[in-house]
Formats: sequence, C-alpha cells, structure tokens
Amino acid sequence: MPSSEYTTCFYCSEYSKIAQDYPVNYATKDEKSFTPRCFLHWEYKCSKCGKDRHFNGISWCSTCKKFTCLFCVNEQMQKEEFLIYDYYYKIPCHECGSFNPALDYAEYEGTHPFQIGDIKPEEDIMIWMPTYKDQIKTQEFPHKAWGLKRILSLGKYVEFKRLDSLEGYDPKTTWDAIAPTWAPIFSEGGDYHHKYKILPEVYRLLDTLEDKMILDVACGEGNVARHLAKHGSNVVGIDISKLIDFAIKRENKENLGIQYLKLSAENLATKFEKASFDKVVCNMALMDIEKYDSVIEQISYVLKEDGIFVFSITHPAFAWPTCTSFRVPRGSQRNEDKLRMVLNYFDERPTLLDYGHETLSLQFPRPISSYINELVKNNLILQEMSEPKASEELVKKFPRNAYRDDDIFPDFLIIRTIKKLNYKLF
Ligand SMILES: [Zn+2]
Ligand SMILES: [Zn+2]
Ligand SMILES: [Zn+2]
Repeated sequence: MPSSEYTTCFYCSEYSKIAQDYPVNYATKDEKSFTPRCFLHWEYKCSKCGKDRHFNGISWCSTCKKFTCLFCVNEQMQKEEFLIYDYYYKIPCHECGSFNPALDYAEYEGTHPFQIGDIKPEEDIMIWMPTYKDQIKTQEFPHKAWGLKRILSLGKYVEFKRLDSLEGYDPKTTWDAIAPTWAPIFSEGGDYHHKYKILPEVYRLLDTLEDKMILDVACGEGNVARHLAKHGSNVVGIDISKLIDFAIKRENKENLGIQYLKLSAENLATKFEKASFDKVVCNMALMDIEKYDSVIEQISYVLKEDGIFVFSITHPAFAWPTCTSFRVPRGSQRNEDKLRMVLNYFDERPTLLDYGHETLSLQFPRPISSYINELVKNNLILQEMSEPKASEELVKKFPRNAYRDDDIFPDFLIIRTIKKLNYKLF
C-alpha cells in the first residue's frame, strides 16, 4: 500500500471502501486537487476527435483497437449497480458501431484495454482483476445517489429532510415553537438579509403607502406592518402563529393603528370583503404555506381592481432546499472556497430546514413557474421581478455575506403584480 507521504488516487480510495482488497494506486495526476488520480483513472485520447477524455466518458473497442468518447457518438445509459455507481454509459465504437462500456465499467468487468493487454500502461499501476466482479455484485451498495453524497461529503454535509407526507407536521406548531427566538431578531428590522436585500425591495415595489388600505398576509411579529403604518397606510395584519402575539403586544404600546387578526392566510375570504384592499403584501411566507394556490386566489379576491400585490420568497432556484453549498477545504471562511449546488429544483415535497432555531422550519418548495402561473390564473399580472444583488457598498460592509455570494447569485425573489380583471394575455 502507498505510504502516507504519497497521495493516493481518489477513485482507487473510493472503490476500496466497497471492495476491501481493491489495489490503491499512487496518484500521479492532478495531485494538488481534491481528487488526485492514478494513471488508470485518468484520461484517454479519443481516436475520433483526438481529445483527452475522462475515463468514465470513453469506451474501448477491442476489435477496431479504437477509443470513442461520448462527445463523438450517441451514448446509451445502462442501469446496473457496480462499484460505487448505479449506472454506466454504453458508448458505440465510432468505426464499427458495436456498443462498449465506458472504462469505469470495463475495468469492473475486466475488459479495460490495460487488463486485456490491448494497451500497455505508460506508468506502473496495479490493475484490478475481473475476478472480483461476482463477489462485489452480492454486496450492499451504500453509495446510492453516490455522486451527490460524495460531493457533499467533501464539504459540509447537508441533507434536507424531505417529507412524503405531512402527517405529524403542522406549520402553525412549527412557527409557534420558533416564535420566541424569531420575534426579537425581527422586532428591530430583521436580520442582514431582510434589512439590506429583501425589505428595501419590498417597500420599493409597494410604492405609495399613504392612505392606502394594505393587508399584510402572514405578518409575523409585525415588522412590515409597522413600517407601512408609519408611512401613512391603514394596515391589517394577519398571521396564524404565536408571532402575532408579539405584534399585538407592541401595537398596544405604540398605537400605530394597525389591526391584527389571528387568521390563517388560507381563510382570507372568510374575513374580508371582496375588493377591500388597495395593496396586499406577503413578506417571506408563501414558500412556508402549503396551499399557496388558494392563498393567491383569496388575495386576488380581497384586492381591488388595479390593486397591487407584492410578495417575497426564498429564491426557488438558488436557495435552500433547492440548493445547498459546501466548502472545500472544509471550514474555509473565504467565499471563493464555497460551492453552490442545485439538488433538485423539481422536488416539491415538504422539507424540514434547520435555520439554527430550536425547531426545524417547514417549507414547501416549488418552481418559479408554479407561482407565476397561479398569479396569472387569478388576474394578478406580473409587473416587476426583483432578485436582489449585493451592491458594492454592501460587499465592503459585509464581505462574508456579500462577496462572491450575494453579488453572484440571488437568495431571494420579490414579485410585484397588479390586479387586472379584463387583461388579455393572448
Ligand atoms: Zn486510481
Ligand atoms: Zn471523441
Ligand atoms: Zn469498433
């Protein structure tokens, strides 16, 4: 076995976790990267395009003695569990058309050109002999969805708990539990994100506030409602969680004229008349609401014609739980070491998120198109979309939040719509 002063091949090491006696080679390629590799698990020159290709994207035809990469032909996917994978590519020879497995599988089944003696490797490497194949097949495969887990394990391991059913979970209870830690943060304008990125945009898009009847849906502890009231609006705030108790307590002291109701956003139409508000705002809540479609329908119902609806959400494409981030090296505090990765944009299962409070938050991820189509269906016509980007000033002031982070992708999405009853879309 290679001693510790040598770097070992990343692939050999991973394979050896599954196959105990897999020979681990020294790494002589990409040694300084976090995936150093041996000559066997390196690149092979495609005989058609002449380009060096990663071993898992190129096949060997022992009849024609040719390599073919998957950029030169149309590959097929073959589902089969082997080593740390659950599929491999079948890549047709560009000369005779016969399908051959990519070299990761070829090595596994013993048909790699080094194994069958078609090519002599330029470097001394130990080769995994095909006799292992049958033993391996009967083993457990702990690396299902291996690619993702491997990458995550290189950095901070983040896994979101996706729920197949909501049984045992209830958003109200969740928020009730979070309320005591949440309320103090937001009583003074919110955290960094709210203060510098979300709220300035929400207020800009709400536009004139004076003498407007405004409904604050899922108002929480009243941060937004108070701002609106101080700027001359007549505000009604509704929320189903205990957060509203903090809002009411404060209103009793400050007397801004805000009316608070403990009401679910899903029951707006039971409490308010049709067309009774000039504007509706819903700050950072729709992604936490299961029946967002019903809420949007009722918001449209309580809005006057030409009324404005503004809402902010965590960005459906770039924020948790669609995305996760990790750092290589682990623990690095420089953002250039931070990588962001999209997990599954289309996974709409309810998700438990750990924002560092005592209880996990429940979120209902959905694609951007779901929101937009629901708005349009309810006569709420899109006027402006905002994806706040950190300004240079913000980058200077909060480099760890903003540099190569908030200035290169958006964490939040803010949308302004107008209610138009007879708007012809097509
Ligand atoms: Zn290797
Ligand atoms: Zn090629
Ligand atoms: Zn061939």
